[in-house]
Amino acid sequence: MDLTPPLCSSSSFIPKPIIINSTTLLHSHSTSLISLHPSKKRAAAAGIVAMAAPGSLHKSEDEWRAILSPRQFHILRQKGTEYPGTGVYDKFFGEGVYNCAGCGTPLYRSTTKFNSGCGWPAFYEGLPGAINRNPDADGIRVEITCAACGGHLGHVFKGEGFRTPTNERHCVNSISLKFLPADSY
Ligand SMILES: [Zn+2]
Repeated sequence: MDLTPPLCSSSSFIPKPIIINSTTLLHSHSTSLISLHPSKKRAAAAGIVAMAAPGSLHKSEDEWRAILSPRQFHILRQKGTEYPGTGVYDKFFGEGVYNCAGCGTPLYRSTTKFNSGCGWPAFYEGLPGAINRNPDADGIRVEITCAACGGHLGHVFKGEGFRTPTNERHCVNSISLKFLPADSY
């Protein structure tokens, strides 16, 4: 059953040429690049697109089924979408970091989260190198995935007029995230 509407399609969204960043390109040919980035922090500091060791967290479908709940598996591994307004982080604004629910890689800081009013957690940017962008199968939207494990997060929209530093909205399923409060690390 998948009656969920597309993630927050924006009336102001104008299809543009989809820019695939170098992370995506590397990621798609990543089998031999596993050891390229021993230090994500150093790479980020040097202005290089950092990656979370692509390939190292790839698992078989059976392995993912064993560690994820059925709902997590549906969204992270089968690109499902949770119903708007139902996710635990939709209206949650605690201070901390949001990790990938699949592999635990830090993806977003709470300081970049904003209330888009559209029913899913919204962030104006991800941590450097943590998020990959891929043309969505629908030919219009841009899918975002965890760079480390390939888990589906949601979609990213540009130029919608939100008053954020990037004018981008990462529209992310709560199920794809695991929040870590600031006082826990
Ligand atoms: Zn992940």
